[in-house]
Amino acid sequence: MRKYWFWLILGVAVVTLIGAPDQQFARTRVADGFDFPVGKPNADGYYKARGFRPNGHLGEDWNGIRGGNTDLGAPVYSTGHGLVVFARDVRLGWGNVVVIRHIFFEGKDLKTVDSLYGHLDRIMVKEGQQIVKGQQVGTIGTNRGMYKAHLHFEIHKNIYMGVSRNGFRRDFTNYYSPTDFINPRRRLSGAGRSALVAINTFGDTSRYRAPAAGSTGNVRVERTDVDASDSVQEAAKKPRQNTFRVDRFGNLESF
Ligand SMILES: [Zn+2]
Repeated sequence: MRKYWFWLILGVAVVTLIGAPDQQFARTRVADGFDFPVGKPNADGYYKARGFRPNGHLGEDWNGIRGGNTDLGAPVYSTGHGLVVFARDVRLGWGNVVVIRHIFFEGKDLKTVDSLYGHLDRIMVKEGQQIVKGQQVGTIGTNRGMYKAHLHFEIHKNIYMGVSRNGFRRDFTNYYSPTDFINPRRRLSGAGRSALVAINTFGDTSRYRAPAAGSTGNVRVERTDVDASDSVQEAAKKPRQNTFRVDRFGNLESF
């Protein structure tokens, strides 16, 4: 009888392992360093209009120094070598979003990060595409006129988040402050090498649409008075500052 159970359990285990959707991997270049995603490679002509803040703004907003929509349609570049794992129109506060997965050496360890490029006017890459550092992935946009043109840029430690933040801590456990990630990693070892990286880590992304066509040239920004505060409470506490005030979406979400 005991033997019977052994074979039954073994059989179930084998069927489960074979039948389970296996973790999938793809080979991609090891990043040899990371550059800034605008004004390549050093963000020349751009400034960080809004920084990373845990539990608040989970990325950085990069804006052309001439302000307004002068950077609408300007190129956005991949921060490093990698693989496109997401390139879709998420709508809501995001709009067109590209996520690129990178592997890099931290000492002797291979690490993985995702870079995320939001509010793109146009997406110029496809999911599954191999990308090199400095390759154009899209153009700076306004998310259908919701913001003045700027790039929302994130670096994720956690490669299971993608564009769905629910259920993930909004702090340094899952995110890097992008500039603080890039600056000490401008040049890395590993050039010319490749390695396997996990893919299909975002679950079912079929609910997100194909990239929206760009709006360059015919966009009218109506909402220039949107408050950049990270939450309603913050807005109540702080006097209104006449700084970058275009990058906020409702429901206390910060984009
Ligand atoms: Zn933002």
